[in-house]
Amino acid sequence: MIDVHCHMQFHKFENDYDAVIKDAISNGVTTIVNTGTSIESSRQAVELSQKYENLYAIVGIHPHHADKTDAKYEGEPPQDWLVQLESIAKSSKKVIGIGEVGMDFWNYRTNGIVPVDLQEDAFRKQIELSIKLSLPLQIHTRLAWDETLSILSDYKKDFQAPSGMFHCFSGSVDFAKKVLDMGFFVGFDGNITYGGIPPGETTALVDLVKYVPVERTLTETDSPFLSPIPLRGQRNTPSSIPIILDFIAKTKGISYNTLEAQIERNFSEVFKV
Ligand SMILES: [Zn+2]
Ligand SMILES: [Zn+2]
Repeated sequence: MIDVHCHMQFHKFENDYDAVIKDAISNGVTTIVNTGTSIESSRQAVELSQKYENLYAIVGIHPHHADKTDAKYEGEPPQDWLVQLESIAKSSKKVIGIGEVGMDFWNYRTNGIVPVDLQEDAFRKQIELSIKLSLPLQIHTRLAWDETLSILSDYKKDFQAPSGMFHCFSGSVDFAKKVLDMGFFVGFDGNITYGGIPPGETTALVDLVKYVPVERTLTETDSPFLSPIPLRGQRNTPSSIPIILDFIAKTKGISYNTLEAQIERNFSEVFKV
């Protein structure tokens, strides 16, 4: 079982990450990918990947942090965030992708919407880095479907196949079609179990689960966020992957084991692990 996107380096796990990771592994989760959202959390994701055989890292600046790239990190010059990110990405073979990067027009309670030009600049620079390093992208997009696709399409000729995945997928069936047509894979999280249409969206996530072929589907938890029902509201961990797999298998009308094996193949295809 694969958790292709979570954040064990976030402070919600600082006291017990070792127990949480060991628990997930003993529950049959074979691979856990920690994704960075800033320079600091990217570094921490790499550090964790070096402590455990089953852990990997994806490094990048989240669009929600695109206005904080000039914050000082460990005394290094602020304008060097891209240089720093490149050196983090090259620091270990366990770095398997660039993410989470993208565009996000959701109005967050903490700092609203980051200026669109800053988001776009950080996204473009990180797409270019992923091409330079031949690492797949792990894309975060929320309520910014057209903008995300239009930016990505500028680099289409430079992408390797497959070029990566969209994580925590939401949007319309039409958007899903365009994402698949561009060769991307699609990650689903515990929020697919919530039912109804998510805030600000137009399409129920279960309809997207139905639409995306199993050959393009990946499983993720986004821990500590988005615990699936019946754990909704609690801190999420990679141990909830079986609940997400079971929900997708039932929705697709295929066996749990068939889906699990297919997702392991998909993961290898995208991330070469
Ligand atoms: Zn995200
Ligand atoms: Zn995330």
